[in-house]
Amino acid sequence: MIDKLSTDVAIIGGGIVGSAAALFLRRFGLSVVLLERGLCGAAASGVNYGGVRTQGRAVSQLPLALRARQIWSRLSHYIGIDGEYLQSGHLKIARSEADMASLEAYADVVREHGLDLALSSGAAFRRAYPWAGAQAIGGSFCAEDGHANPRLVSPAFARAARAAGARVLEQCNITEVAHTGSGFVLGDGRSVEVSSRWLLNCAGAWSLDIARRFGDSAPLTTINPGMAVTEAVPHFMDVNVGVEGGGIYGRQTARGNCVMGGSRGAPNGTLYATPTAKAIGELCQRMAELFPALAHAHVIRFWSGVEGSLPDHQPVIGPSPGTPNLIHAFGFCGAGFQTGPAVGELLAELVHHGRCGIDLEPFALSRFTEVPSLITP
Ligand SMILES: Cc1cc2nc3c(=O)[nH]c(=O)nc-3n(C[C@H](O)[C@H](O)[C@H](O)COP(=O)(O)OP(=O)(O)OC[C@H]3O[C@@H](n4cnc5c(N)ncnc54)[C@H](O)[C@@H]3O)c2cc1C
Repeated sequence: MIDKLSTDVAIIGGGIVGSAAALFLRRFGLSVVLLERGLCGAAASGVNYGGVRTQGRAVSQLPLALRARQIWSRLSHYIGIDGEYLQSGHLKIARSEADMASLEAYADVVREHGLDLALSSGAAFRRAYPWAGAQAIGGSFCAEDGHANPRLVSPAFARAARAAGARVLEQCNITEVAHTGSGFVLGDGRSVEVSSRWLLNCAGAWSLDIARRFGDSAPLTTINPGMAVTEAVPHFMDVNVGVEGGGIYGRQTARGNCVMGGSRGAPNGTLYATPTAKAIGELCQRMAELFPALAHAHVIRFWSGVEGSLPDHQPVIGPSPGTPNLIHAFGFCGAGFQTGPAVGELLAELVHHGRCGIDLEPFALSRFTEVPSLITP
């Protein structure tokens, strides 16, 4: 028998973005059905590195990232747990004079946007970060950045949305979705049919499957960041670390395990991805070079995930150009764990107020598409 539900807002995708949107919509008093084909927070939102950093973000994303920081700083107020969120600071390391110049130029640009970075090099850098490998010559430190445990945080957003009154349906793969003229009808072709006034497409790397049903498109591709975690080792580093130019990043948990990212896995047709032998080799080599303390540490697990990416490294956040009351939010290019809570809040504001407090122009889908004619109700 098909369960027929009617709601103000239907959300496809129970990652951190869809789940946060559900939570904030409930705070505005709107009825919400959150539809997730697996388990909420189990895809990219649950397997990511856990970096919660604003440093390195494009200037156009800073208002979003800084707004997200406000939510992160009161995380337990929203989701009832601290999610192992720690404002450890984020250090971006320079391995050459050119890297250092690039970090200095970035710091100059973002200062006026409210991002304060402290640069150091030479002996001062060595004294502050004695654990960094010989290739590190300096760095840029953002004291207010940090990290969290995605396995705890992302499902907790969905739990908080449910506790706030959202209907959360897991193991519910939305295969049917249509605009009826006055709203949307969607279902899994099996047990659920949902009618809604609004539809939020928060389906992560799979969002084009939904967008295309409405004639919307974007050059979305997928990336598969490679990840590893070591056995617990004695504490040597207390900041979240990245490098200018990329290739390796790492942090140490309270238990002593070091979580490392870098290189790329390979897609395997599921919600996850496979860490290839090449990626594992590259990651281990870079890890030992940047963190000599880990040169002989055992890696206890490798994994990868599936993330949506767009050519200009900006997400799509905003209304469909052609279908009223359809809003897309996808293509976070490796940054959506940090920004996700704020994206959810913005989506809720767009639905409730018809506008939100951040300029979404850089994230408009229309930057990729011809604007189709509006569907007439
Ligand atoms: C390995 C890795 C490391 C990363 N590291 C970081 C980091 O350190 N910091 C950072 O900020 N970001 C990081 N990211 C990026 C971040 O994880 C993502 O940007 C963010 O989680 C995207 O959230 P989302 O809710 O849009 O997508 P997802 O978490 O992918 O959620 C989308 C959900 O939609 C569901 N879905 C799709 N289609 C349907 C359908 N038809 N019906 C029902 N449900 C559907 C999926 O099952 C999925 O659960 C990383 C990503 C990966 C993969």
